[in-house]
Amino acid sequence: MFPFEPALDPDLRDFEQTVRTFVEREIAPVEVDLRRTGAQGLPPDVRQQLQRKAKANGLWCFATPAEYGGAGLSPTQMVAVLEQAVRHTYSLPDPGDGVFGYDPPVFLLDANEEQREKYLVPTVEEARQWFVAITEPSGGSDPARTIRTRAERTASGWRLNGRKMFISRVADAEHGIVLARTDIDGGDSGISAFIVPSQSPGFTYRSVGVIRDHDTYEVSLEDVDVPEENLLGEPGKGFALARRWLARGRLSLAARSIGVAQLALEMTVEYARDRRVFGGALIEKQGVRWNLADAAMNLHAARLVVRDAAETVEREGSAPTKTSMAKLVATETAYAVVDTAMQVHGGMGLCQEMPLEHWFRALRVNRVVEGATEVQRDVVARTLVASSA
Ligand SMILES: Cc1cc2nc3c(=O)[nH]c(=O)nc-3n(C[C@H](O)[C@H](O)[C@H](O)COP(=O)(O)OP(=O)(O)OC[C@H]3O[C@@H](n4cnc5c(N)ncnc54)[C@H](O)[C@@H]3O)c2cc1C
Repeated sequence: MFPFEPALDPDLRDFEQTVRTFVEREIAPVEVDLRRTGAQGLPPDVRQQLQRKAKANGLWCFATPAEYGGAGLSPTQMVAVLEQAVRHTYSLPDPGDGVFGYDPPVFLLDANEEQREKYLVPTVEEARQWFVAITEPSGGSDPARTIRTRAERTASGWRLNGRKMFISRVADAEHGIVLARTDIDGGDSGISAFIVPSQSPGFTYRSVGVIRDHDTYEVSLEDVDVPEENLLGEPGKGFALARRWLARGRLSLAARSIGVAQLALEMTVEYARDRRVFGGALIEKQGVRWNLADAAMNLHAARLVVRDAAETVEREGSAPTKTSMAKLVATETAYAVVDTAMQVHGGMGLCQEMPLEHWFRALRVNRVVEGATEVQRDVVARTLVASSA
């Protein structure tokens, strides 16, 4: 065990170990050959086969309540387990590259009974993916101001018009959640959330290539009609639902970033022990030892920030500022740790046959998505300033 790991209760430790063993035995070995072929993830048939195994072992949709078929982990349990679930190459954006199922967007947990019955259980059961469309060509950092997609009432529901940008999973998802303005002058209280089937007439999309291992799309909605029952929550309250989705996503993203950086650090210590330079082991060079010591300390500090945010969410129901802090500290630290790991590995660190360059690219994405680092800093600053008023 790594020397700085925080203490956990024994039951959780067992579950963590089960997840870690599953990843090490079932997922990581398959990826060795895939990396050599330049693949960007598990082949669908392999994923499906491993999904069946993971599900049969109760390793399924970690953050989803047990009543809907998930593992029902609390926030503190979730961040600990996610760190283990991402200890493989294609682990970002989805732990296990989908092998552990896909936690449904938190919008659906907040949905009414009929919506939960219709969408939630099959989503968990059948590992269905959803897209969530908030960002628009006009910007993603400040959606309360930049969302221009409009939803207008019709006799039987709503008609949506607008464009969305950089939306993940669109091609793989039967349904998604689209945020649209229902009150033009209402600011964030004029935004509503709708369930939109991707096969709807007027719903089209095109792939927008970004950094490798990520699929994003530009979506166009032209007179897309959805029935009244597809409105999530009350009209004008969609932004509050999106905030909850973002908060949960940020905590999970923070834990996943820490998990891959931890593995990168462990791999680097091992590599530097074996590698010889200038007549001695690489690990004996003070420049290398100190960099790795700094990486270990920074990672430990970031992990504690993430665990503290999770504990506060568990105790108080939400912790927006601590969650922003956790997302910022974890993603920036993990990126720096993997960068150090690549440097110590030399050319091997840049090699596509190693997992490091995959994580490096994915961690670069994590510094922008779900609120860029600067946006999180602003959240923290607002709380700081308000506390001194
Ligand atoms: C791989 C990937 C997947 C994505 N998936 C989704 C998805 O599924 N659904 C979805 O809705 N969106 C998705 N996005 C969009 C993502 O959330 C946005 O790109 C992100 O929120 C930033 O928005 P933007 O690109 O419009 O940048 P802008 O809002 O134009 O911001 C540009 C930059 O300005 C800086 N900045 C912003 N605000 C401040 C400030 N207050 N102070 C100082 N600097 C600031 C930041 O550095 C920011 O990166 C995805 C993006 C990528 C790259």
